[in-house]
Amino acid sequence: MDREQRDLVLEQDVGLIWREERVSCPHEDLLRAWVEGGLEAGPGGFVAFHVETARCPWCSVKVQEIREAREGRPVPEKAVEKATEKALRSTFLGLRRK
Ligand SMILES: [Zn+2]
Repeated sequence: MDREQRDLVLEQDVGLIWREERVSCPHEDLLRAWVEGGLEAGPGGFVAFHVETARCPWCSVKVQEIREAREGRPVPEKAVEKATEKALRSTFLGLRRK
């Protein structure tokens, strides 16, 4: 197997892992912030696409859970802000590390 073929196989494996492990799913904190309406257009658009257009079954369930939890037990605004900031920062750091 030459180098090019090996890279191709590796790419396919990564794709499979991504789908199986749901690596492309937004973090739960981001889903919650999106439900709260606290996301900016960029990340908000990503979550909206993921949940509403791609209809990810796992995230749809998660969003439903978050909405139900909100009805009974409102999340303090500060906690949401903090969680979103943390999630965005780790995403940002992840991108910079490339
Ligand atoms: Zn998802």
